[in-house]
Amino acid sequence: MKRLSLTTSAIALSFMITACTAPDKTDDVASAAPETVAETTTAPDHSEEITAAYAFMERAEAELAAQSHIAAQAYWNQATNITPETNAAAAEAGAASTKLAVSLANESKQFDVSVLPPELARKFNMLRTGITIPAPSTDGAAEELSQITTRLDATFSTGRYKLKENTDSVLKLLGDLSEAERDDIVEKGLTLDQLSTLIEQNRDPEVLQEVWEGWRTISPPMKDDYARMVEIANEGANELGYPSLDQMWLSGYDMPPEDMEAEVQRLWSQVEPLYEELHCYTRAKLNDQYGDDVQPRTGPIRADLLGNMWAQQWSSIYDIVEPENTGEIPYDLTERLNEQGYDAIKMVETGEAFFTSLGLDPLPETFWERSMIVRPEGKEVVCHASAWNLDDEEDVRIKMCTEVNSEDFYTVHHELGHNFYQRAYKDQDYLYKTGAHDGFHEAIGDFVALSITPEYLEQIGLITEDEKPGADADTALLMQTALDKIAFLPFAITVDGWRWGVLSGETAPDAYNTAWWDLRLKNQGLVPPAPRPADAFDPGAKYHIPGNTPYLRYFLSFVMQFQFHKAACEQAGWDGPLHRCSIYDNKEVGERFNAMMEAGASQPWPDTLEEFTGTREMDGSAIIEYFDPLMLYLKDENATESCGW
Ligand SMILES: [Zn+2]
Repeated sequence: MKRLSLTTSAIALSFMITACTAPDKTDDVASAAPETVAETTTAPDHSEEITAAYAFMERAEAELAAQSHIAAQAYWNQATNITPETNAAAAEAGAASTKLAVSLANESKQFDVSVLPPELARKFNMLRTGITIPAPSTDGAAEELSQITTRLDATFSTGRYKLKENTDSVLKLLGDLSEAERDDIVEKGLTLDQLSTLIEQNRDPEVLQEVWEGWRTISPPMKDDYARMVEIANEGANELGYPSLDQMWLSGYDMPPEDMEAEVQRLWSQVEPLYEELHCYTRAKLNDQYGDDVQPRTGPIRADLLGNMWAQQWSSIYDIVEPENTGEIPYDLTERLNEQGYDAIKMVETGEAFFTSLGLDPLPETFWERSMIVRPEGKEVVCHASAWNLDDEEDVRIKMCTEVNSEDFYTVHHELGHNFYQRAYKDQDYLYKTGAHDGFHEAIGDFVALSITPEYLEQIGLITEDEKPGADADTALLMQTALDKIAFLPFAITVDGWRWGVLSGETAPDAYNTAWWDLRLKNQGLVPPAPRPADAFDPGAKYHIPGNTPYLRYFLSFVMQFQFHKAACEQAGWDGPLHRCSIYDNKEVGERFNAMMEAGASQPWPDTLEEFTGTREMDGSAIIEYFDPLMLYLKDENATESCGW
């Protein structure tokens, strides 16, 4: 079971945060235009405007950077020590940041971007699209938007469900509960974490259905708020010059929004055949396990049977879908880490050592002094793993309640990927201190983690030579990876596909839930365990909907990490199967990798992609190559099945 981890960089905190304040014109901060103006002025008629635009942008970046550092510190203090005081300080810093971002975005409208030199126009575009939920300038709109987003967030994070019966057989999956914990569950209900554990580990379809439906009782109260928020945010997007918010979100990819939407469809169509085989095979295994009444052998899969609250990653049901008659994996990584005395620090050190083996500089001493690597005693903290850069320079940190297991071993690499990326682009201008696009940022650490092969584990002494699985275990190895990485792809496009429909106005509030399930069925081949109630608002039961976090980045990341992996393995001269390639200790690859990261967002992402991979397009074909042995196995196993839904 793996959960996605969000990155929390200073820029994301201060700038891309929910915007909820009216424009506030304060342009008394003077600054001179940089000397480059004269050289880049190509249209003399506009030279004055261009000079003013440079001056504006220099001031905007300085103000954003200063505010970003203040906000990042306040957010860090809150996340690592939740108290009424740190909550208040974080809320205050957040409000100031959003006020600044909206104010600058609105102020930027006085400049005609079409007459500006390309590199300056690019910054203006970033300034305008960098706000996730923009407020319009009408009286009271910002306040209303702020109240709604706060309420949505609180409704989600305090959501609980009371089981009809708290039987010992169900609750034992939650570990040894103290008397107080048990009383809390009986009185207040189960938290999302607890409900998720049950979905992952319980194999009784009646319990699964109750837990799955139970979590979705938290979201109907969000629906009216959500619909109102969409209205307000669209007005905000209109003021910034976009027809609707989905178009504004899709404008952050160095191409027209409609081209980007087509790109997503193109990438999905490349990998869809593999998903269909995985779906078909998994459905047959679930049918074997549960019988026709619970999971028919044809048609869609019941969404509560896949070992994850949203059926977004399926590795928790590996026990049900484990391939038969193929080689097994002769070691358990979690056991190995524990046997060898790994603790949280050693897990992070091992992750760092992978990056330094590529020739990257070690993390600064402050990383070790200031990171939160284990859950501290006597404090409430946000355990959800994240990576930070507090000063946009070297002050990188992670925040994790690291446990010694295989899942967290991968998560450490994911989070460190964010940190190494943040440090690599630290010398760029403020607005360029981010990923080439948001999918790059999520992909970096996962790309490195694709090199955690059995061969690599042997190199660092976690398994012995004898334990290295042979080629006959490839199916098992690839199945584990596919359950998380392939099953996720259609889920990711469902989340933002639904949201684009809602934000564009194509999907009206009374169609929210049916539109959600239309996409769940179309993309993922899933259905709910029973017909949904008329007031259901199932998208609201996924954090990123009430939390307003764009989701496309994760789809792009899951495609691009394999593309990066293939390119890196080619650079390394690897000629074996792609899933057995590890770039560990390869300084040449590391040099090009670092160059890609150092560029940040300073140029259109196709330029950056081309420098590392040799191509200007995102490409799903590396996924197909990587999983080729699994595809052959699945096709063979599915030969007698009626695939599709
Ligand atoms: Zn991340």
